[in-house]
Amino acid sequence: MIEGKICDIFSEYSEVIYGFADIAYSQYVDNYKSVLVFAVPYSEQLTLKTYSEEKFEKGIQDAKRVLEEILARLAKMLDECKAKYYIPLVAQSSEEDLEAPFSFKFAAVNAGLGWIGKNDVVITKKYGPRVRLSAVLIDEQFSYGDKILESRCPESCQRCVDACPHKALHNVQWNISLLRRDIIDYKLCNEKRSQYIKEHGRKNACGFCMAACPFGVQ
Ligand code: SF4
Ligand code: SF4
Repeated sequence: MIEGKICDIFSEYSEVIYGFADIAYSQYVDNYKSVLVFAVPYSEQLTLKTYSEEKFEKGIQDAKRVLEEILARLAKMLDECKAKYYIPLVAQSSEEDLEAPFSFKFAAVNAGLGWIGKNDVVITKKYGPRVRLSAVLIDEQFSYGDKILESRCPESCQRCVDACPHKALHNVQWNISLLRRDIIDYKLCNEKRSQYIKEHGRKNACGFCMAACPFGVQ
């Protein structure tokens, strides 16, 4: 019943990709059986030719607005159904390990939405990495997607690696057992992006490694 209601909501957002995964792998499993994870495309699908930081940031903020609207509708429906659910925080819990308490990326690969690229971002077939992810933990069972265990980046592709101005990417093909640090020097990436806080009032959106990806724009 709840799955059908979720599908009804997403039928009004045909551009959004979504799926469900069992969260047996997560620390939240004692309270919630599943995660609903969804990917809202950025409003403009930028390439290196069309990229600017301002446009990239705008694409993110536009996607965020759609995402928040969807989350509000899901929350209302789940409240009405008296379902037990939790919307995990997006923000990192510390600037030290730079990890959110619940990984949307890991949920996305478990739900079959995409894989992790050499840029350490979820790559969807339809939009490449140009999506913003969100998730809702729900104490219900759903029709789960097929988990993706390995990268589907072409072996020879390293466009994202070459596009990073700070050489933060290690040119490593992802598989489900790798750690983030195997793929990216995330502290370096964060440090470089944080240098703009004074100037922008926020971290630099820096999307070179995403704009470079051939998935989603061919
Ligand atoms: S966000 Fe910027 S600094 Fe970080 S890996 Fe991508 S291109 Fe490099
Ligand atoms: S640019 Fe190439 S290597 Fe990097 S994430 Fe996209 S497909 Fe994968």
